[in-house]
Amino acid sequence: MRDLPEGGHALAELEKRMDPSARERLRPYAAAGVSLLAAAAPGQLRVAFTSRGGGVSPSPYASLNLGARQGDDPEHVDRNRARVLRALRAASGQAPRELVSPFQEHGQRVCGISEYHRESVRAPCDGLVVNPRIDQGLVALLLFADCVPVVLIGEVDGAVVHGGWRGLLGGVVQQGARAMTAPPGTAYIGPSIGPCCYQVDDELARAFSDRYGPSVVLPRDGGPHLDLWETATLALAEVEVPRARVVNPRLCTSCNRDLFYSHRVEGPATGRHAALLWAAGAAPSRKT
Ligand SMILES: [Zn+2]
Repeated sequence: MRDLPEGGHALAELEKRMDPSARERLRPYAAAGVSLLAAAAPGQLRVAFTSRGGGVSPSPYASLNLGARQGDDPEHVDRNRARVLRALRAASGQAPRELVSPFQEHGQRVCGISEYHRESVRAPCDGLVVNPRIDQGLVALLLFADCVPVVLIGEVDGAVVHGGWRGLLGGVVQQGARAMTAPPGTAYIGPSIGPCCYQVDDELARAFSDRYGPSVVLPRDGGPHLDLWETATLALAEVEVPRARVVNPRLCTSCNRDLFYSHRVEGPATGRHAALLWAAGAAPSRKT
């Protein structure tokens, strides 16, 4: 594995490796020592995807691990999450107050962030809706290491969902759209395993082509590869988000393990990067 790029170097690498089509709408951004891809979505909603540099966790979680369920020291995770919150505050006109990280289980449940935050017994949840009018201060934080983060933005509110193969096949993207007050018009796909690296067995490939059509399966020597990015794009089309309104930096977590975590390559003892959605008063400004 290549050395982890820190600070300005990570920023430069994100810029260099992301797909040029996404550069206008998703910007590499550094604050509080961490590097993010950030977007000022239409309206008050803000979107960010973290990279793995700039945190305090040692190997194999190095370094900005935000997941508390993979064996990393909880104190390190807390410090990393505090750094992310500081970076978001630097990026937002109004201070995001609290990160809300649901218990993800590859299911279809999507709920309002305030509603989830109030639950005394928190049922598993793989998507959160953020409405700027009622959810000020709360930041949805979903965790990933290969699975596909999908953020949907509408005129009233937005949703961030956890799209692993189970979630995408089961319709978690469509469920995210249904949980919103107004239909989504724009979406962001975060760093996740790309069609270059996601080999699957014939049975799973068939399940995907039966549900989403043959374009999501790439025949390759050695076995079929699934294109989860195309799957997410087709799922978004089913809820009326056109392809031209889907921002995808096409950053494969398996190819870019110096910048992101990959469960498939690194195994269960690795960290988690995050997709974040919150309401803010001002657009992120770029800082290098
Ligand atoms: Zn790859």
